[in-house]
Amino acid sequence: MLESERPKLIGENGLRHDGRRIDELRPVKMEVGILTNASGSAYVEFGKTRVIAAVYGPREPPQKYMVLPHRAVLRCRYHMAPFSTDERKNPAPSRREIELSKVAREALEPVILSELFPRTSIDIFIEVISADGGTRTAALNAASLALADAGIPMRDLVAAVAVGKVEGHLILDVDQVEDNYGEADMPVAVAPSLNAVTLLQLNGVLSSSEFSEAFKLALKGIGEIYRLQKETLRNKYLVKVE
Ligand code: ADP
Repeated sequence: MLESERPKLIGENGLRHDGRRIDELRPVKMEVGILTNASGSAYVEFGKTRVIAAVYGPREPPQKYMVLPHRAVLRCRYHMAPFSTDERKNPAPSRREIELSKVAREALEPVILSELFPRTSIDIFIEVISADGGTRTAALNAASLALADAGIPMRDLVAAVAVGKVEGHLILDVDQVEDNYGEADMPVAVAPSLNAVTLLQLNGVLSSSEFSEAFKLALKGIGEIYRLQKETLRNKYLVKVE
């Protein structure tokens, strides 16, 4: 790519291409209970990244050979709708989607009390309906809300965000342009009350001090997301006494 084609990602005023500060999330929206046919569901939006998660179960697994005698089996499908990208995406699951389904399952497994539901399966379907960077982290935020909405006992919620580096600056909540042209992209998922990291990936290069700073920035964003997740659940389920 010619240097002249590279978009300017941080302006003279220190703001990003969409007007955000470097430590600012995109506008976030969350809603639970959006689907009637699933046990639990959620909608999560980070700017133009929009994701739906649906949970079924605990239920008898469709395939009997899957059952485990001591706990529920967690199954997870991450999928991008054909209309979620600028060019129609092939609806068949790509290698990336198969990998992200596994990554999402492993990031959620530690918070689910699956030992309470032996011989059952808990199925999580994640559908990206609009992709503009950070779909795996939006997916985890939505899936964790959908699990709670399904009434599945959990040790904690999982809250997630990607941090990155563009033009030498560490930034919170990386969007697609920043992901495409930036130097690094690091998705992080945390179960805040358990003080546990359930996902940490890094695409690109960060020095060890940049890594520490980037991780702190992710925790700051995750704190805000976790507060919004709890507020969303409270607004739906807390009985208001007048
Ligand atoms: P994440 O969405 O978690 O950031 P990636 O870093 O793999 O995951 O992808 C970054 C962004 O690139 C996505 O959010 C999406 O906007 C875009 N993208 C990913 N896969 C495709 C695809 N097959 N077609 C078009 N855009 C894609």
